[in-house]
Amino acid sequence: MTDHLFKLNNVIQNYAWGSDSSIHSLFNIPNPDQQPQAELWMGAHPNGCSKNQQGTLLSQIIDQDPAAVLGAYTQKRYSSLPFLLKILAAEKPLSIQVHPSKTMAEQGFKLENSQNIPVDAPDRNYKDANHKPELVYAVTFYQAMNGFRKIDEIISLFEQADCNTLADALKCLKENPGEQHLQNFFAVIMNLNASDKAQAIEELIKNLDTKAQTHKAKEAFQLVAQFYQDYPGDIGLFSPLMLNIIELAPGEAMFLDAQTPHAYIHGTGIEIMASSDNVLRAGLTPKHIDVDELIKNTKFQPSTFDDLKIQAQCFDHKKVFHVPVDDFNFEVHSVTSEGHDEFVRSPEILLCLAGNVTISTAQQSIKLQRGESVFICAAAHSYQCHGEGQFVRAFN
Ligand SMILES: [Zn+2]
Repeated sequence: MTDHLFKLNNVIQNYAWGSDSSIHSLFNIPNPDQQPQAELWMGAHPNGCSKNQQGTLLSQIIDQDPAAVLGAYTQKRYSSLPFLLKILAAEKPLSIQVHPSKTMAEQGFKLENSQNIPVDAPDRNYKDANHKPELVYAVTFYQAMNGFRKIDEIISLFEQADCNTLADALKCLKENPGEQHLQNFFAVIMNLNASDKAQAIEELIKNLDTKAQTHKAKEAFQLVAQFYQDYPGDIGLFSPLMLNIIELAPGEAMFLDAQTPHAYIHGTGIEIMASSDNVLRAGLTPKHIDVDELIKNTKFQPSTFDDLKIQAQCFDHKKVFHVPVDDFNFEVHSVTSEGHDEFVRSPEILLCLAGNVTISTAQQSIKLQRGESVFICAAAHSYQCHGEGQFVRAFN
């Protein structure tokens, strides 16, 4: 019989954009070779599957007894762990991306399979048939871009950027400031030929530190200058003029909806997402950009920080961050010596954020320190938490 509660050994992803100190210093995860520690993955994803203390893969543990590990509902609905939990520490900006809706992912995956495009081909758009909604919870101040700005703001920023190459497209957007024309404007930028693109970027970069007339432009142009260091010829240099620049304070969270362009810029956070790899890129990347597919998968509806930020619902010992999808739930718990109980209705992963947290089921008890995590099988039915600290609770 599987243990209903066990500690996880997790995989670190050493992507180049990662911080070499943040995950180590905030979560006490060793980094002996001073590598960039971009992400720590907690879950059963094949590209980085967690293990128990005996070295058995979580995916194997699930396969051996899905009814007990996942529970009847999750087994029937998803047949595997439906979410992936991560610690993410960005030192440099990640690529701008859009994730498809569930329907688009199902159609696209089927179509690319029928065209015999290998799943690992560089020009493959759909790696699986799932959507990839995401929530990010800030541990440090966390800077990102998310969703389109209001159209009048986009117009004002491009006017201040003064790019002659885009003057006609901007004039058209000014005359028709609606979502359809925002899409057209975005398409003009993404489809610039090589010489017009180089020209437009040269115009954008010119007088970058003196041409801003508003605070918003100053902030956007500073990001353009920062991105220019790493991506001098990249079309993503225009993204700070089109997308909201957001900074979460520690303890705040936002939702990254399907079809909404976003990019993480700097900071350490906890991220939870549906188990999927479907990413359509939109800049700040040397990788393949399929502009037509990107536009088909993008909603050109402006949003504000208030739309994107999740207002946590606060209880005695927990904050619940509600999301409009059922692939995952995300809560942050504070524990005291008094302790509290939770009922289990799906598989769960708990990650200790601070202090000491002891998790006990009827059979077992495990003490966690910051950066340590446990898996709880649906068959555990309930557990008790006590100690002096804070943990993240992920379940579905
Ligand atoms: Zn994303």
